[in-house]
Amino acid sequence: MHVRKAVDIAGIVQGVGFRPYVYRLATGLNLVGFIVNTAAGVSIEIEGPCEAVDSFLVRLPNELPPLARITGLVARDVMCNHDGEFRILASRAGAEHRALISPDVAVCGDCLRELFDPADRRYRYPFINCTNCGPRFTIVRDIPYDRARTSMAVFPMCAACQHEYDDPTNRRFHAQPNACWDCGPHPELRDAGGRRIECVDPIAAAARLLGRGEIVAVKGLGGFHLAADATNAAAVEKLRERKHRVGKPFAIMVRDLAAVEQMCHLDDVGRGLLLTPERPIVLLAKKYPNPVAEAVAPCIRELGVFLPYTPLHHLLFASGDFLALVMTSGNLIEEPIAIDNQEALDRLGELADYFLIHNRDILRRSDDSVVRLCAGQVRQLRRSRGYVPVPVFLREDVPPVLAVGGELKNTICLTKGRHAFLSQHVGDLENLEAHKFFEEAVQHLERILEIEPRVVAYDLHPDYFSTRWALARGGVERIGVQHHHAHIASCMAENHLGGKVIGIALDGTGYGTDGNVWGGEVLIAEYAGFERVAHLANVRMPGGDAAIHEPWRMAVSYLAQHFGRDFFDLPIRFVQQLDPHRAGVLLQMMERGVNSPLTSSCGRLFDAVAALVGIRQRVTYEAQAAIELEMAIGDDHDAATYPLRLVSEGPGWIIDSRPLFEALVRDLGAGVPTGMVSRRFHNGLVDALTRVAALIRTNHALNRVCLSGGTFQNVYLLEHLSARLVSEGFEVFTHSEVPAGDGGLSLGQALVATHPYS
Ligand SMILES: [Zn+2]
Ligand SMILES: [Zn+2]
Repeated sequence: MHVRKAVDIAGIVQGVGFRPYVYRLATGLNLVGFIVNTAAGVSIEIEGPCEAVDSFLVRLPNELPPLARITGLVARDVMCNHDGEFRILASRAGAEHRALISPDVAVCGDCLRELFDPADRRYRYPFINCTNCGPRFTIVRDIPYDRARTSMAVFPMCAACQHEYDDPTNRRFHAQPNACWDCGPHPELRDAGGRRIECVDPIAAAARLLGRGEIVAVKGLGGFHLAADATNAAAVEKLRERKHRVGKPFAIMVRDLAAVEQMCHLDDVGRGLLLTPERPIVLLAKKYPNPVAEAVAPCIRELGVFLPYTPLHHLLFASGDFLALVMTSGNLIEEPIAIDNQEALDRLGELADYFLIHNRDILRRSDDSVVRLCAGQVRQLRRSRGYVPVPVFLREDVPPVLAVGGELKNTICLTKGRHAFLSQHVGDLENLEAHKFFEEAVQHLERILEIEPRVVAYDLHPDYFSTRWALARGGVERIGVQHHHAHIASCMAENHLGGKVIGIALDGTGYGTDGNVWGGEVLIAEYAGFERVAHLANVRMPGGDAAIHEPWRMAVSYLAQHFGRDFFDLPIRFVQQLDPHRAGVLLQMMERGVNSPLTSSCGRLFDAVAALVGIRQRVTYEAQAAIELEMAIGDDHDAATYPLRLVSEGPGWIIDSRPLFEALVRDLGAGVPTGMVSRRFHNGLVDALTRVAALIRTNHALNRVCLSGGTFQNVYLLEHLSARLVSEGFEVFTHSEVPAGDGGLSLGQALVATHPYS
């Protein structure tokens, strides 16, 4: 029997080789009809024998080009038309406006083969790409997505490239960044002063410089990297010194999987993750010994590793004999990544010895994404290049809302229908450059998504830049969202939950509705509101923010809280090494309540314990003490647990850490190893939080638990708390699409704002 079907498809189906794919599939099955881009995606009509049409519909979603993503497919019978062939029709006017823009993707296997084939016309061409790979989001100025609205507009295609671009059977059909040696962008080498260095092959020359231990700023996909040979300790130290970056680990780009195996423990899941087209930085456990300089990631048992993802990266490794390059964002501390050639030469001139640049402009900053595997799932730590602007898909339609995120690790979120679009990682909003980037990100996302938000959601902290920005924006309704409520809503949103849940939100800092610093919170939450049912007991933060940078202050605060001034007699090394004068000043500040805000922060509790066991008294980057405390957990299987006490207060509970500190001090006095102390501390938190959840279940008949907040980047805590809750019969929900930390905050803010408090 002869049939004809009309198929409407929504999703990422434009600019990703979808039409040539459908053309090949249809003509391969001898079907006739057409495909056309529409406002929502594509429309297809296919006609032929019933079995062939069925086969087409089965294969269509299963053999997609790598970048395509179908979010909706509706097929219906229509009258046969008896066309003579299958055709790709010209797009209807305005059709491309609402289709989703693809993220940037790593160079594909086909392009790589051509790149290293001396007979190919793009042999060693560093900007080779096709509809299956290459830059997208970072070169888009405006929509619809076509060459004239990208930074490729200034490179008219040569006849050969144009021919590929126009041929529906070609891999480069409508590949907007299509280019070659004759018509496309070119690389160039400059010295630190910005002077051009004449050379036949700038990439090979840069590789030689890197091999000699020089620092080279390399223009990438979403910004500049500062590169240095990761096996050369002197080069890595030089980079740290110039970047004023003391301890925070550097990510390394590694030649290939075989080289990764020399440095890290790698299983099949990890291999797959390194090879995904998004090419994120993957955190992997270090092997000892390994060839990487210790200064790359000091005091940390993990390495952040990624594989080359642009043709230029591949050429760099093919031209040099280094195993791995430090590839860190081209910026000074806390500034956004540099993208413009002149901007890079100005800002990075003191940091880099040479510049490997090119003349294809980067229009959107986008840092490398960072992920890790935990409890068998991919966890986003920084969701940016490769993932943005793919939306998070929601359980139901929501009105258009702009959520502006928090202060650190900022992202913004725009909602439209069933989609929540998170921006790239904007970072810490601590200076003017970052504020400009934040505003650019908002404007660009609103423009390319054509969203005019009617509501702006923001954090309650009055001093956050994002909060002040939101409050100054006119013509919209403004809704403040409590920080930990937003975290739990974010976890609910990506897990498609509605109704009420038990929310365990653990992090360093979030403004509470009582004006205190929250961070160890157990909520009963729904999108429309929350109730704070339990929290860590408040302690003082002597010196305010200084206590965040100096964990020893939190140790003193906890000791004073639990032991009074008698703590000076405790037989532990922390107390013996304490400067009595400085400790005395802290005690006075706390007793008088001077510059000593109250906090229930879980991050500060980790800091106090890390300082007490002697791991770290001062930190050089956020959460350093907590990370190193987790890393200290030994391989023993000690199941001992430090006790925490639940004290009834009103309808809920205060989680009192006094018995924990008593047991911990006893262990330290008895010389129990640090790794074991750290494990017992983690086990204590797992136990206490599970007991709180069980009490809430009894009183409120809730059985779903959401875990969110930056502390859940702690693998031990996430794995053990999840497992324990599951074993007690809870349904447990965690993050995998968006970060558990503040990078995922904007998603939760948006969802809360779409369900206003009644
Ligand atoms: Zn390709
Ligand atoms: Zn060309």
